[in-house]
Amino acid sequence: MNFDLDPELVALREVARKFANEVIKPNARKWDEQSDIPPEVYRQLGELGFMGLLIPADLGGSELGYRGATTIIEETARHCGGTALMLCAHNGLCCGHIMIGGSDEQKRRYLPRLASGEWIGAWGLTEAKCGSDAVAMETMARLDGNEWVINGNKMFITNGGKADVFVIMAVTEPTGAVAKNRISAFIVERGTKGLIIGAKEDKLGVRASNTVALTFDEMRIPKENMCGEQGQGYKHALMVLERGRISIGALAVGLGRGAVEEALTYAQQRVTFGKPLIEHQAISFMLADMATRVEGARLMVRKAAWLQDTVGQSRLEACIAKLQASEIATQVGLDAIQILGGYGYIKEFPVERYMRDAKLMEIGEGSSQVQRMLIARSLLEAN
Ligand SMILES: Cc1cc2nc3c(=O)[nH]c(=O)nc-3n(C[C@H](O)[C@H](O)[C@H](O)COP(=O)(O)OP(=O)(O)OC[C@H]3O[C@@H](n4cnc5c(N)ncnc54)[C@H](O)[C@@H]3O)c2cc1C
Repeated sequence: MNFDLDPELVALREVARKFANEVIKPNARKWDEQSDIPPEVYRQLGELGFMGLLIPADLGGSELGYRGATTIIEETARHCGGTALMLCAHNGLCCGHIMIGGSDEQKRRYLPRLASGEWIGAWGLTEAKCGSDAVAMETMARLDGNEWVINGNKMFITNGGKADVFVIMAVTEPTGAVAKNRISAFIVERGTKGLIIGAKEDKLGVRASNTVALTFDEMRIPKENMCGEQGQGYKHALMVLERGRISIGALAVGLGRGAVEEALTYAQQRVTFGKPLIEHQAISFMLADMATRVEGARLMVRKAAWLQDTVGQSRLEACIAKLQASEIATQVGLDAIQILGGYGYIKEFPVERYMRDAKLMEIGEGSSQVQRMLIARSLLEAN
């Protein structure tokens, strides 16, 4: 197992770090306050190749694999969890599902435009009445001649208000099949009649990312817009989520790193009782613990990414990486606020935002409870 980054990835990390320092860092607070990322940023991210992180080069993507993608996500999240979440939903969820289930024709139609950033992608599994228990979904698709007619809703869809392309899951066989085989995936384009995009959610964190509900009211799409075979939607969604957890782990590591770096800088400058904070052992030990936790989480994310890149499977490791990194990021965010004292509590300093952003990583793409359920199941299977 080699956790070192190849020289090309080190170079790319520098490109991402420069962009994050020059474009994301100075604007992250504004994007958080206005709950929006300006359109030119999507375009710039496309030009850098960051909207096609995993897409094959022959379809216009950067084809970086998970070691590469997680490197870019961590650098982005270092300054803005919302921007990184937008990238995760676009690259890992929407593009990821089309890469897994899409026909050659679908890949050729959608992936190059998604990779360039011309089109933005979203992915819909969660509904108003079900998230963790996704097989309980109620959105229905029925075939009518050459069209699928879809009725139902999706909740909390990242990029939903901006997206040109949506991959959504719906029940195609209401009865008869095993529950998980009743679900199929569909590609829906913006502007489709019957697709109703809800108002932007007003969130605690990752506010720069766009989150909406979707309603499907007799929404008609061509028969050939099914993504994958009928009944394979849930199986493919689980594959998307398994891989997505590696990216969410990297996002959490980026936020944790941000909290450590900001707290370290502050602790060297702030003087109390005649010496810098860092010279008080209680504070330096806190920082040592924070850095230790983040580095451990990064190693686990790298292991999951390495497995995904080399053997194409990281079921247990992706769960552990996501669980560990997300809970650490929230705790490290809280610790950073404590080290900054009153300044940690005000928005002039970014650590309160990192903590708000981190909390989502314990909820989305399988909550901490769901990760523990999956890890426990893996332990039993291995026994
Ligand atoms: C900002 C944001 C962005 C999101 N983006 C997307 C997106 O792009 N696409 C998408 O499809 N979804 C998205 N989601 C949805 C997200 O994945 C779900 O919120 C998440 O899966 C949890 O589902 P839920 O909210 O319905 O909670 P529930 O499933 O109702 O769970 C509520 C609580 O109960 C716990 N719980 C549930 N069942 C059990 C159990 N059996 N044992 C123990 N504890 C349990 C959960 O862990 C959670 O803490 C997003 C959510 C947010 C907030």
